[in-house]
Parts: sequence; structure tokens; C-alpha cells
Amino acid sequence: MNAVSSVECRVSSSDSSPYSSRLTPYAQPLGVYIHIPYCLSRCHYCDFNSYRIDTGQITQYLETLAREIASRACAEAVRDRRVCSVFFGGGTPSILQASQLVGILDHCRATFTVEDDAEVSLEVNPGTVDLPKLCALREGGVTRLSAGVQAVQDRLLQRIGRAHTAWEAERAFWSMREAGFDNINLDLMFGLPDQSTDDWSETLDWAIGAGPEHISAYGLILEDGTPLQLESSRGDIGLPDEETEAAMYRLAVDRLREAGFEQYEISNFARQGFQCRHNLVYWQHQEYLGLGAGAHSFLAGRRYYNESLPARYVCAMAERGAAVAGGEVLSVEMVRSERLMLGLRLRSGLDVQAFTDLLGIQDLAASDRVARFLDDGFLRVREGRVQITERGLLVANELVVQLL
Ligand code: SF4
Repeated sequence: MNAVSSVECRVSSSDSSPYSSRLTPYAQPLGVYIHIPYCLSRCHYCDFNSYRIDTGQITQYLETLAREIASRACAEAVRDRRVCSVFFGGGTPSILQASQLVGILDHCRATFTVEDDAEVSLEVNPGTVDLPKLCALREGGVTRLSAGVQAVQDRLLQRIGRAHTAWEAERAFWSMREAGFDNINLDLMFGLPDQSTDDWSETLDWAIGAGPEHISAYGLILEDGTPLQLESSRGDIGLPDEETEAAMYRLAVDRLREAGFEQYEISNFARQGFQCRHNLVYWQHQEYLGLGAGAHSFLAGRRYYNESLPARYVCAMAERGAAVAGGEVLSVEMVRSERLMLGLRLRSGLDVQAFTDLLGIQDLAASDRVARFLDDGFLRVREGRVQITERGLLVANELVVQLL
């Protein structure tokens, strides 16, 4: 029995899955996510499933990952599916040797039907790569790199516990170019402790000047239990106030647009043709297979998650040949709210018909709330699609909650 079919799924409401009656299942290609849960050290804001690297565990982890790839490939919802993207996330996947990463990728190619032009992305911590490693990754089939730069001021990088310097980020970027990568994302963060608007402006200037194909700009979220959140619960940690943070976001939107980037999602900006295919799988509510410790999958209307701790993940695979720790069938309500939320986060928005179907209304005029958001300029209708406006971007999450 494979990992997916062996898991017991909890039904979230009395509604059956909206996927259960579809006539042409599995027509769309699949995204594959591979989780490497190790990092050089823990950043002070991080609540991802990541652990300080334990080199003694790596070989066993990778062997287990290979077994999981083989096992999950047999599942009905995966078998014979085309794979349009493979994404190595973490953690810090670039902490592994290039040969280890290429080995996993080769295993995926031998096991799944990976499309010839599939996007193969790898998250990179600038302090963990050099030119030979990057060349080996490029040769091994990695097509896109996503570098966690966050800020270009060393004092801010230290403040949030990043394990690299601004100079290392710059050097890594130019090495990526030298290795032949023509699809690079830079991750940037605003709303950091002690970060001024000038700091953020300098970070944006540097990123635009470097000339990547894609930039992600995320505001800091103080997740429960992280060192920064604990520190802030004890007193002021110098976070920008709400107004300043909103101004930082607007600065990013304006500056990146002027520089020729298209904002295709609330926090994501790309040059034409360089939208992240893997993230679009998530945002367009398509199916994906997650492999590795703590990885989530979304297949046939069900969401699954693997054992989070690497040691438990390894044990579960060894003992029962499966690492899935649980899952749930998505109810009609969950699918509706997720599609609405994800669809409106995309700047292309939602087709009017899809939007009204999700809200269960005849037409846009049938909902007072929709009419109010349109009148107040939070939503607009362009070329048959409902889109969030500049004004709506700043309150997008709240907007969706009120719509549902
Ligand atoms: S590099 Fe990423 S995953 Fe690792 S600790 Fe920092 S934020 Fe978390």
C-alpha cells in the first residue's frame, strides 16, 4: 500500500469533496515540492519546518526521500501525471552538495513524468553556494534559483538572525549569473526591527540594480514562539508602525512597477514570462505532491501532511513505508474560501462567473458587500474579471473574510 492510500482522511464537514464528482480527474499537470529541512542556523523570525543542520542525518534523510519518491509515484492521483514543476524548498536546500540535489532530481525524472520544459526551482541561502556548485546545479537541470537576500544592511541581517552578509548575497547573485542562470528570484523583507524606509529603499535599489527576473517582497510576520515574537512580547523591538509598513509596501509596488516588473500576486513581481510556475500551482488551486519531512500535498480534493520531525519522518518510512501523518478532505466551504482568497491575491483576479459561483450569488449586483467594495474602489471589474485594486491590496485578507 502506498503512502497516500494508507492514510485515514478526516472529512471537514458534512459536505462531500467538490472534487469527488469531477469527470476528468488528473488532467492538469502536477507540481512536486521537495522539503529539505536543514539550515545553517535558525533565523529569529522563522517558524518553518527547519532544523539546524545535522550532517550525520543527511544521508539517511536522502535515502528516505528516495524511497518516498518511489512510493508516492504509485498513488493513483500521481501515477502517469505530468509534472510541470519541481521545487526544492526548506529549510535551506542549497545546504546540500550539488551532487545530492541533482541525485534527487534525477530520481524524480526517472520516477515521474517530468515535462521537458518543467521549472526546477531551488531555494538558496547566499552563504551556501559558490560558482562550481552553481555550475553543477545548472548542468544537473536546475532552471530557477530563489535567493533569500531579505535586506542589504548587515546590521539588519544580524538583527533577524540571517546566516549571511549583504556582500555574500551580492557575490552569490553574480555567481548565479556566471553559472548561466537566467531565471533568478530575490526574496526581500520589509517591516523588520530597526529597518527605516531608507533602508528598505536601499534594498529595493540594490535588487532592481542587480536585475533579477523575479522579486518577492514580504512583510515580516511575528509568528508565535519565534525569538523575535518572544522579544517583542517583552518590549519594543523597533518595528516600523503600521503606517510606515504600508508605506514600505507601496514603495515596493511603485518602485518595482517603474522598473518594469509586473505585480502578478500581492507580494510577487516578475518580468514578463518569469512568473513562478510552482507558486502559480498553489495560487491557482491546482494539485501538488509534497515529499520530505513536514511536506504537504493536495491531491484529489484531499490535503495530506508528512511527519514534521526529520527523525520521525525517517522512522515512519522505515516502519510503515509511508510518512503521511494525517490529512483532511476539503469541504465545499474550504474550497470556496481558498479559491476566493488565492484568486483575489492574483492581480489577474477571478473570472466574473467563477467569482459569483464561489460566492453563491447570481451576479455582482446581488451582493451588497460586493457592490460596496466596487463602489469604494477596493475591487474592480476589468475585461470580465474581478480584481483587487491598489487600495484593496493593503487590506486583501480582511476583504476576503468579509466577502465570505
Ligand atoms: S533560512 Fe529560511 S527556513 Fe532556514 S531558518 Fe532562516 S527563514 Fe527559516
